[in-house]
Amino acid sequence: MNFGMSEMRLRSEGIDARTVLVTDDVLSARAEEREQRRGIAGGFYVFKTAGASASRGDGLAEVEAITRHANSRVRTGGVAFNGCTLPGQTEPLFRVDPGRMEIGLGIHGEPGVRTSELLAAREIAKLLVETILDDAPPDAGSKVAVLVNGLGATKYEELFVLYSGIAPLLREAGLETHEPLIGEFVTSLDMAGCSLSLFWLDDDLEALHDAPAASPAFTRAGTAPPATNCRPMTGTTEAGAPVSDPPHPSTTNEDPGGQAGIGARAAITAALAAVEAAEEELGRLDATAGDGDHGAGMARGFRAAVAAVAGLDGTARLSLVTAGQAFMDQAGGASGALVGGWLVATGQALPPQDSAVNAAAWGAALRQGMAAMARLGGAQVGDKTMLDTLVPFVDAFTAGDGDLPTVWAAALPAAEAGMRGTVEMISRRGRASRLGERSRGFQDAGATSMYCILRAFGQAFAADPDIEGR
Ligand code: ADP
Ligand code: MG
Repeated sequence: MNFGMSEMRLRSEGIDARTVLVTDDVLSARAEEREQRRGIAGGFYVFKTAGASASRGDGLAEVEAITRHANSRVRTGGVAFNGCTLPGQTEPLFRVDPGRMEIGLGIHGEPGVRTSELLAAREIAKLLVETILDDAPPDAGSKVAVLVNGLGATKYEELFVLYSGIAPLLREAGLETHEPLIGEFVTSLDMAGCSLSLFWLDDDLEALHDAPAASPAFTRAGTAPPATNCRPMTGTTEAGAPVSDPPHPSTTNEDPGGQAGIGARAAITAALAAVEAAEEELGRLDATAGDGDHGAGMARGFRAAVAAVAGLDGTARLSLVTAGQAFMDQAGGASGALVGGWLVATGQALPPQDSAVNAAAWGAALRQGMAAMARLGGAQVGDKTMLDTLVPFVDAFTAGDGDLPTVWAAALPAAEAGMRGTVEMISRRGRASRLGERSRGFQDAGATSMYCILRAFGQAFAADPDIEGR
C-alpha cells in the first residue's frame, strides 16, 4: 500500500514509476494464490536483478519485466525457533515452546503459519527442499542460485550445517547450484530462524546475478558499468506518452479557515493524545498476529500530523489533508498508508469553505474517506481490520440527526461494537492474514486504534462550543 501511494505521488510529479511485489514465500499462500504470497528472503535475488538491470542501462519497462521474471523464479521456505524483541520492548513478539518450531516465518518478526515439533538440521533441510521443489517454477531449467539466510540469532555454523544437508538433496533432484550464499542477508533483529531460497537461473538472470554490486549489506567484486548508462527521467513514459495520473488536488489557495478548521486541528491533537495513551496496548495487540509496531507507528504518524498543522490557519479541509500527508510520510506500515490516505481523502471531500462544514458535510466526507481506505487496502467488513470499526461508525453517523458533536457521539457505540466484533474474526487482510485460524481470539490492532481516533475526534468536537454545524 505504501508503494502504491508512492507510485501515485511520483506519477503526479511527472515521474514514471512501477511497482513489482515480491511473492517468494511458498508457505504463505497456496500455489493457486501465488500472487497473494508475501516477500521474504528471496526478495534478495529480485532486488539484485532489478538493480543490475537498471545499472546496465535497461529502460524502465525492461527493468520491470525482468524484475517480474526474476520474482516468478524465486521460491523460499523458512522456519523460526524464537521471536525477535523490538527495540524498547522487554518481551519478544512471540515465543516458541520448548521442543517446538514455527514453520513459514515472516521477515518482520511475524510468527509462523503453523508449528511442528523441533526437527534436526537434516530434517529441516529435507522439509525446506521438499516444500520448495514441490512448488518449482515450470520449465525453469536446472541451474539454481541458493540462499541459506539467517534471521539474526542463528549462528553461521548452524547455517553451514543446514546447507550441508541441503546441497546433496539439490544434487539428487538434478539441480546444479550456482554460487550458494550462506549467511545473514535478510534479517529480523534477533529472531532465531532461517530460510532457504532457490532462484532458477537462465542466461540473462545469471548475468544479472553475477554482475558487480556494492551496497552496505552485499558486495560483489567487479567493475560496475559506467553511470553514464543512466537515462534522465522526464515527465513522459518511455513510449513518449505523458505520465498520466492527475496531480494531487491543490492544498493551497483555500479560503481562510474558520471554526471547522480549528475543530479539525483540535481533533488531530486529541487523536495524538489518545493513540499515545494506547500505544503499548496497540503494540501488544499487533504482536499477537502481526509485528508489534502498530502503536509506535500510529503515535509517530499523529505526532507528525500535529506538527504539520501547528500554526496552520486554514480550513478543516486543508487541515485534514495536511495532517494526512504528514501522517503518511512518517507512520510507516500498512496503517501509515491506510490512515494517512483516509485522513487525506476525508479532508478532500469536505467543502472548501469552512462555513459549509456541518454534520451532513462530515457525513459525506467520512463516507468518501472510508471508500478510499477500502479501495487502497482491498478489505471488506469482516476481514478483521480498521474498517470493522469505521464502516459501522459511518453508517450510524449518516443515519443520525443533529449537530456534529451529537451525531458523532451517537455513532460511537456502533464503532465500539464493530471493534469488539473483531475478536472472533479470522484476519483476511494485512500481515496477520497469513495466520488463518491463529489470528482468532484477539481484538484487531487497527480496529482498536480507529476507535481511539474516532472517540478522540468526538471529544474534541464536543469540547469546542463554536464548531460549525452545532
Ligand atoms: P503493518 O501490518 O504494516 O505492521 P500496522 O501494524 O501499523 O501495519 O497496522 C496493522 C493494522 O492495519 C491491522 O490491525 C489492520 O487493522 C490494518 N490493516 C492491515 N491491512 C489492511 C487492509 N488491507 N485494509 C484495511 N486495514 C488493514
Ligand atoms: Mg504491524
